[in-house]
Amino acid sequence: MIIKPKIRGFVCITAHPDGCAKHVEEQIKHVRSNGPIKDGPKNVLIIGASTGYGLASRVAAAFGSGANTLGIFFERPPGNGKPASAGWYNSAAVEIAAAKEGLYAGSINGDAFSDELKTQAIELIKKEMGSVDLVVYSLASPRRTDPADGQTYRSTLKPIGQPFTANNLDTDRKTISPITIEPANEEEIHSTVKVMGGEDWERWMEQLEAAGCLAEGCHSVAYDYVGPEVTWPVYHNGTIGQAKKHLRETAERIDALLKIKRGAAFISVNKAVVTQASSAIPVVPLYISILFKVMKKAGLHEDCIQQIDRLFRTRMYDGSALVFDEEGRVRMDDWEMKPEIQEQVKALWPVVNTETIDEKTDFSGYQENFLKLFGFGLSGVDYEADVDPDLDIPSLKD
Ligand code: NAD
Repeated sequence: MIIKPKIRGFVCITAHPDGCAKHVEEQIKHVRSNGPIKDGPKNVLIIGASTGYGLASRVAAAFGSGANTLGIFFERPPGNGKPASAGWYNSAAVEIAAAKEGLYAGSINGDAFSDELKTQAIELIKKEMGSVDLVVYSLASPRRTDPADGQTYRSTLKPIGQPFTANNLDTDRKTISPITIEPANEEEIHSTVKVMGGEDWERWMEQLEAAGCLAEGCHSVAYDYVGPEVTWPVYHNGTIGQAKKHLRETAERIDALLKIKRGAAFISVNKAVVTQASSAIPVVPLYISILFKVMKKAGLHEDCIQQIDRLFRTRMYDGSALVFDEEGRVRMDDWEMKPEIQEQVKALWPVVNTETIDEKTDFSGYQENFLKLFGFGLSGVDYEADVDPDLDIPSLKD
């Protein structure tokens, strides 16, 4: 079939298998261009491995550090003449490339929040890797069923305490107009913490530890975002911010668990990038479009793979102790938060409107990145050619 992008709001409901493979290949190339990551991880579990920061973590571990990887994700397989979701094709591409290197790369497609999946992962780790020396927790999900009480919780992206009005970019219509988001109630705050807080990360680590799957010196990292004040009402100080606060508190408990093994758990604050998760957050796509303009001009632009490659190479596995901020977090958003970058973003913010969007922002860069997430717009891919959407992920074939 011929696969074209079909965009519905902030998602694209189609994905291109060859384009996704090309996107993964670009990421592999980036990591390889920097040479091997010396003393990097060797057996890695990535929870949320198919897109965004989790995919980049898997690529950096496998192709920078020669690691075996087990990737967990929740993706739509192809079927009934419809293409799979992008993360499905990305994972197939990673497995195929890893096999060429003689690396183990296994996958589980299912609900990472369930205990059944955790048991399945533990069995695979024992069989294929023995234990893991790095666990990356990179889930972004709108809902979670908690195995402890059987209840399904939904996350929301809302301010807390008072309504928030700000300019918002409609990426579909290419228009900018103010939106007002009503504040969350207590239940919405609680539910968002249940989904995006640290409860599930801790559950994973406890079960992995009880099964003897955490190697001596094991590290675990989860990702956070802080960003500038203009996004705080809807992010840092909003419902998702409360969940991230819980994630940080959880990191301290997991750190205590891993310290016994001479390992560590920590939060890495990453920069704002275009992913399926970030494109759903009000106000953030507009901020990212401005940020891209400023960071590209300054020669500091990074996507997921540049961020994670830098995290592994210059922070986690460079032979020196991790450097933390005053709240105990690693700051990979250091370039984004440079005063000179933020000053320029701040100056552009009030003058950006529908008419000035191309001149004052990197909207085309935003869109290019967004389409790439689904395997569109990659050079060297023939989008007019007939392509078979029924691509298997090798380890999930049987
Ligand atoms: P993403 O949407 O690209 O990836 C989410 C991953 O989670 C996918 O692999 C998906 O399959 C998986 N997933 C979702 N629900 C699942 C479930 N129930 N079971 C198994 N897998 C499931 O998201 P992302 O933007 O890469 O976000 C990853 C982390 O990075 C989040 O914690 C996010 O807050 C953080 N972060 C993102 C940004 C950003 O700008 N995108 C910035 C800093 C930090």
